[in-house]
Amino acid sequence: MKIDLEYKVEQKAQMLERMRANPRVAHIRLAAPEDCLFGLSIQGVYEKDQVPSIPRKECSRPEGCICTYEPVLNTIYP
Ligand SMILES: [Zn+2]
Repeated sequence: MKIDLEYKVEQKAQMLERMRANPRVAHIRLAAPEDCLFGLSIQGVYEKDQVPSIPRKECSRPEGCICTYEPVLNTIYP
């Protein structure tokens, strides 16, 4: 559903924006489920300004892309 995808894109963009604005977040991990082949091909830890946007239309998951962002916290932050 197109509206649903647009909503998810918006939601993930806001999530990414908050993580980028948070100084405790050192890097951002893109996490994909096992049944999302495209997600698995791009999952990993990224610099905050180099994270690919999600969800992706290339996602092969039948119920829709559930790839997500996870913050990697800066552990040496005081
Ligand atoms: Zn996906």
